[in-house]
Amino acid sequence: MYPSSISTLAKVGISLLLASRVRAQDRTTEQGEAAINDPAVECAIYSYPPVASAVAGGQFPPIWQPVTSVPANDTEGRAKFLAINGSIPAISPKGTMAGDFSNFTPTYSSTDPDCWWTYHQCTTPKLSGLSPDVASVPEPRTLGYGFDDGPNCSHNAFYDYLSARGQSATMFFIGSNVLDWPLEAQRAIADGHEVCAHTWSHRYMTSFTNEGAFGELWYSLKAIKLVTGVTPKCWRPPYGDVDDRIRYIATQLGLETVIWKYDSFDWMVCPSLLPHEILLADTGANTHASQVGTNGVTQATVQANYDALIGNVSAGTFDTVGAIMLTHELNNFTMQAAIDNYPALVKAFDHLVPIAVAQNKTQPYVETNYTMPSFAQYISNHSAASSLKGLNDTSASGSGSGQGAQATGSGAGVSMRLPVRRSVGVLAAFVVVTGAMRWAV
Ligand SMILES: [Zn+2]
Repeated sequence: MYPSSISTLAKVGISLLLASRVRAQDRTTEQGEAAINDPAVECAIYSYPPVASAVAGGQFPPIWQPVTSVPANDTEGRAKFLAINGSIPAISPKGTMAGDFSNFTPTYSSTDPDCWWTYHQCTTPKLSGLSPDVASVPEPRTLGYGFDDGPNCSHNAFYDYLSARGQSATMFFIGSNVLDWPLEAQRAIADGHEVCAHTWSHRYMTSFTNEGAFGELWYSLKAIKLVTGVTPKCWRPPYGDVDDRIRYIATQLGLETVIWKYDSFDWMVCPSLLPHEILLADTGANTHASQVGTNGVTQATVQANYDALIGNVSAGTFDTVGAIMLTHELNNFTMQAAIDNYPALVKAFDHLVPIAVAQNKTQPYVETNYTMPSFAQYISNHSAASSLKGLNDTSASGSGSGQGAQATGSGAGVSMRLPVRRSVGVLAAFVVVTGAMRWAV
């Protein structure tokens, strides 16, 4: 009997182990990754063969390192850069990649000849032929809803929350993060979000040489294309750091510069490290409840900024043109703040939509087989969906109708989930475990 008992126990153990693995650790597909509810599992590093082979083949610069060159083996990128290099405005690089401009600003003209956003929030280029930055959305009483710095490996609970409400947004993805977390990037497309580029390494763009700045944009687009199958036509400069030289390079790559007019300062609450540093995962004990971040910004500051935006709606500030506010999927605090404020935003604004939707850009990517709904289509669908569910709670339970981008062809290898019907797990899990973003801000 003894051997038999051992055998039975072993079988039970093996079956439990297999069940656990089957249930929790499909790290090979977008759907499998999206179904993981444990942030610790979500943020365990996995290998995605298309990325692994591209990196091994030297198709990308070192992940998280600032781009310094577009090498000869990248024949397409090199040719594109050389084709535009001669016409790039003769504006000198500014400051350092970490955003130290103390040696530059004393000699910079107070007339702001470069339309440098970091200097005086200039959004209307001085150089002719460049379009103004997108700092607002044209639809009145509408919020162009978006989040920077993803994909965050622990974003499933946040994306579940949005999907359950049929809510799409604009996601500004960092190229290095996309290669680190490709299945999470694919989920954005699958959920109907709009994806824009947020550079390769998230440094201050005006500090780069022409070639470096080109490469920061070029390789972020390449990373997004490799992983999701689409090539964005929009980008957001990290820290808003853009001038007419950088705008020109972006324009030559077909990119519209999207900035913001309101800043939640959510990115300042958690301990921030300089861009070239590595953010070590927080311990579970740190939920940032009493954290005082950069410049003394606290959770209360962020909430006050959300409240001020919401107050501006009733004050009539957006009666003729809508708003864009800077918010992030950077860490658990920023995602939880988004969730906590979502019901109030929905109640205050007439509409929350991705920025492309507010602009009526139904083809947000270079590839024409992907479309997003027009503004009229989006709000029509969303009104029907939102009437079916309570929006006054901040829990992530329940399900709803998803909506957003429509794929009318193939190319990304990402299947669309329309409508979304996903049972959403325990939000507390993602509050406790911080996403392993490889850095802050
Ligand atoms: Zn950013």
